[in-house]
Amino acid sequence: MKQEIDYLIVGQGIAGTLLSYQLINKGYKVRVIDDNHESSSTIVAAGLINPLVLKRLTKTWRAEEFLAYNELHYHQLEKHLATKFYHKTPILKLINSEDEIKYWKHRSTNEEVKAYISDHFLDLSEYSFLKKFKGALVNNTAWIDTTVLLKAYQKNLIKDHLLIKESFNFNQLTIQEKTVEYNNFVAKHLIFCQGFKSNNNPFFDWIPLSLVKGELITIHSNEMSDDYIFNKKVFILPLGNNYYKIGSTYDWGDLSLNTTKDKKESLLNDLNELIQCKYTVIEQTAGIRPAVKDRRPVFGSHPIHRNISIVNGLGSRGLMMAPKLIEEFIDFQENGTAMDKEVDLKRYYSEFKPDSAY
Ligand SMILES: Cc1cc2nc3c(=O)[nH]c(=O)nc-3n(C[C@H](O)[C@H](O)[C@H](O)COP(=O)(O)OP(=O)(O)OC[C@H]3O[C@@H](n4cnc5c(N)ncnc54)[C@H](O)[C@@H]3O)c2cc1C
Repeated sequence: MKQEIDYLIVGQGIAGTLLSYQLINKGYKVRVIDDNHESSSTIVAAGLINPLVLKRLTKTWRAEEFLAYNELHYHQLEKHLATKFYHKTPILKLINSEDEIKYWKHRSTNEEVKAYISDHFLDLSEYSFLKKFKGALVNNTAWIDTTVLLKAYQKNLIKDHLLIKESFNFNQLTIQEKTVEYNNFVAKHLIFCQGFKSNNNPFFDWIPLSLVKGELITIHSNEMSDDYIFNKKVFILPLGNNYYKIGSTYDWGDLSLNTTKDKKESLLNDLNELIQCKYTVIEQTAGIRPAVKDRRPVFGSHPIHRNISIVNGLGSRGLMMAPKLIEEFIDFQENGTAMDKEVDLKRYYSEFKPDSAY
């Protein structure tokens, strides 16, 4: 006898985690299949939540809405898991030229940006580990310890018997008119939250992904500070206990999960332009950001198999966008409310070839 469920979710990165969490909270019967984060971008991510593009000082898409929703949502999840992973920490942009100061002052009067920055610059002489800079604050920023979050949520799913720890096997899937069958489950909906691995998914391999590899290093130093996420070219993210994450790189060519000597050198060169203290490199990690050609996420149902859907393309700001967009996606699934046009999978339906096997 097969077990009837509402949602079968493939992948437990930030997308699968928040989707299953919100669905379970609403009373749906859910199961999650994940291969123990084998290719997870989330687990590698720095986890920054930042409403601005720091280079140009422009506000990112729907930032105010996402920020307003995020804090409460992540705090609820922290409470549910009895685990702290959301750290409200200001970003401090390091500035050392008159042109940068002038530009910052100019942007601080912009209607969209002024809520997040001011034209007051901090004297950083007390931070003797830094070379000579002024500091410009960005408000409303945070970072998420993604490893702590994913592992705590995974443990919770295991405790509640909701996690199937395996690689999804497409040969085990049967599609019925209103349901899908997978092993001993009959589900009303199958949702793929596979991150960059969706490029091998036969239902959705026509979505034009534009994947971006990123590498980070973790260092240890007794001389640095946890007060801010310092940023200039690279960020210095305080993890606690004198550990700092330095990142990150962008590479559109190499899509392996290997770390490289080149990128390590490049990160260390950029870091050494900012600091003048002793440190030890602890580790280097690499991941692939799941991004789409037009740099917006993709949420929606397969053009033919309406009970099979995808949540993907969260790109380099996945942690900020995911909570609210996933709430909207559940509204789309359950009530037929249209997704925001900018993230709706329909924008790529013309890429789908109806004669494909799936
Ligand atoms: C170096 C780097 C730095 C980043 N920094 C930030 C940042 O500071 N802020 C930010 O917001 N974003 C950042 N990102 C981007 C962020 O990581 C992504 O937007 C987000 O994590 C994507 O989440 P996801 O759930 O879609 O995918 P993933 O996290 O990749 O999750 C997919 C899950 O599905 C599993 N899976 C895949 N295929 C199968 C299968 N067939 N069967 C079973 N399981 C499967 C994978 O193993 C994984 O566990 C960064 C990314 C990188 C690489």
